Amino acid sequence: MSPPVAPPPLASHARVAGWQRELADAVRDLPELIRLLELPASLGCEPASVDFPLLVPRAFIARMRKADPRDPLLLQILPVAEERRETVGFTSDPLAEQTALAAPGLVKKYAGRALVLATGACAVNCRYCFRREFPYGESGATRAGVEAAVAAIAADDTIHEAILSGGDPLLLDDDRLARLVASLEAIPHVRRLRIHSRLPIVLPSRVTVKLAATLSGTRLATVVVVHANHPAEIDGAVVEAMARLAAARAILLNQSVLLAGVNDSAAVLAALSERLVESGVIPYYLHLLDRVRGTAHFEVSEPEARRLHRELAGMLPGYAVPRLVREVPGEPAKTWLA
Ligand code: SF4
Repeated sequence: MSPPVAPPPLASHARVAGWQRELADAVRDLPELIRLLELPASLGCEPASVDFPLLVPRAFIARMRKADPRDPLLLQILPVAEERRETVGFTSDPLAEQTALAAPGLVKKYAGRALVLATGACAVNCRYCFRREFPYGESGATRAGVEAAVAAIAADDTIHEAILSGGDPLLLDDDRLARLVASLEAIPHVRRLRIHSRLPIVLPSRVTVKLAATLSGTRLATVVVVHANHPAEIDGAVVEAMARLAAARAILLNQSVLLAGVNDSAAVLAALSERLVESGVIPYYLHLLDRVRGTAHFEVSEPEARRLHRELAGMLPGYAVPRLVREVPGEPAKTWLA
């Protein structure tokens, strides 16, 4: 198993942004998490945390209920023994992304778009993550890899949309991100920029004035896809972060993963959609779980997912119903199930 890349160390000079301090102060220790949330000492599994480290910002922990081992936010980040169980059909690279590397740091799966692996680091380690075993270092999620990826986009005039992903691309600091956006906008055939990030949800202070200025100042049409799975993730600070992104002219979309025990209920999904829409974010995709090793306990079957989606569609206006999708390796687009 290839361990995920740790978030960058805190720079020693004084110009460290508040969000970077918060990230440096994130909880990485299982007994500390248990203590903070007043949970039974026996909860969680240290060996699972060695395979894929526990990492969660305190701003996200603050939204969890104390003394509740079934809290839906806790379940997304708590290392558990089930992760160490082998399950047939669950593999290290379920989406065959290794075979979709078009250049170091660049994944090209679909026509007209290409995905830059801007970094291998995240602000939170989601236990269900489909890239939890992704070999970021070998795949070019490095400074040199990002430069190679931008050069590959410049050399391919069929690419009109550059997608920043990772890891979490908003872990690049404001200056690096501004330079990356500038290098993409200097490519005449690139017209759109898409950023996939969980940071506006788990660490909303990341949406700085400077980040907003970078997005509002680019000629590229910009889409920010955030990633919330449960309505309790969206607190007042998240709503304010979304307002800053919207003021920067970004189109805001959300993608969720359907997760057993977290959001596998039409009432929870409806509350999530309503909270998103009221925060200016369109519910875009509800993904079936990608079958990565160690995540079988999160899986919701396809028939049950379709049933939940039908129930959801009966509760909400059409614009608030996310499309139910599954990614099938080798297909020219996501597979729409409903
Ligand atoms: S933030 Fe995204 S890439 Fe990072 S661990 Fe969570 S799901 Fe995976």
